[in-house]
Amino acid sequence: MRIDKFLVQAQVATRSQAHKLIKQKQVVVNDQVVKAFKQQIDENNDVIQVAGKVIHYQKYYYYLLNKPQGVITATKDAQHRTVVDLLAKDDYRADIVPVGRLDKDTTGLLLLTNDGQLNHNLMSPANHVAKEYEAVVAGPVDQTTSAQFAQGLVLRDGLQTQPAHLTIIQADPKQQASLVRVVIKEGKYHQVKRMFAATGGRVVELKRVRLGSLQLDETALPQGQYRALTPAELAQLK
Ligand code: URA
Repeated sequence: MRIDKFLVQAQVATRSQAHKLIKQKQVVVNDQVVKAFKQQIDENNDVIQVAGKVIHYQKYYYYLLNKPQGVITATKDAQHRTVVDLLAKDDYRADIVPVGRLDKDTTGLLLLTNDGQLNHNLMSPANHVAKEYEAVVAGPVDQTTSAQFAQGLVLRDGLQTQPAHLTIIQADPKQQASLVRVVIKEGKYHQVKRMFAATGGRVVELKRVRLGSLQLDETALPQGQYRALTPAELAQLK
């Protein structure tokens, strides 16, 4: 990569500032002062210093967010706060995007990354990555509903879903609101809500608690907060 491009990507400087720093002989690669803007560097192995400080470059960022309600899963929006707006200035990169989508009123686990390959792998229907949700559902939820989920349902618009696993954690005999856990291996638009709608129920609250091997721990990560994935979590996810 060119040294000037590296300095921009590492968020050390804008392109023109990078050129200025190079002209001022402030940029050093492996103890050699850089003389040309287009000098090639190996960002993974070279030691790059600017004004005497070593620049630590990270190409990919992985953040596990506990999404709160009212925030939309997008990178930009004129009216609403987005999940990317929740990142602190130092953690923000223009190429970080959410992996998949949670509705505005859905809370819970959302991965944010600029690793396009991992994003694609996790979202590709061919990879059947499990997404687990906890839901509060009004209306009928019983063993018949579990059997319908297990078989795969036809949604109201005719869409056929793959088999999904429904566990009833706490059923309300009067069917006011049952607490359930659902695992799906696809990610159609409003899928969980539409699956319950197809069985006569209505999702009142929805929280994602797992994506593949990534588990949400709400005690350690309250809503609205995020943290970087650990190397072990990342290795398991890949
Ligand atoms: N299914 C839904 O209906 N909504 C979500 O936010 C996620 C899954």
